Amino acid sequence: MITKIDHLGIAVTSLVEASERYRQLGFAFEGEETVIDQKVKVAFFRAGESHIELLEPTHDDSPISKFLNRRGPGIHHVCVEVEDIEAALASYKDQGIQLINSEPVIGAGGCRVAFVHPKSTHGVLLELKEKK
Ligand code: ZN
Repeated sequence: MITKIDHLGIAVTSLVEASERYRQLGFAFEGEETVIDQKVKVAFFRAGESHIELLEPTHDDSPISKFLNRRGPGIHHVCVEVEDIEAALASYKDQGIQLINSEPVIGAGGCRVAFVHPKSTHGVLLELKEKK
């Protein structure tokens, strides 16, 4: 059901500064976009078959703002690619796994995504992303 780790999401206070640093670290820049629903501006970098997603909040009430205020910059979530997001969510619901999104929402790149609550994953915010 899970086909790979798609990306690691990293919360940052400045997308410009963080993007520059990740370029210096040798990650190839792939693109930037604003995800209005999630109130974030994101930049993607290639890491072989996977990616690094840098996230900067666009509003004070963005989930990324809350994360930065509580913990500072750092790894925010792990995203895995799934074949069928509806099937994954249905299976998780059946098993009593706590979801943040019980239905898929539109994430970066227009992909269908959903988040699983860290309470149900031993402390890791898990993002599911449906394979295009
Ligand atoms: Zn993500």
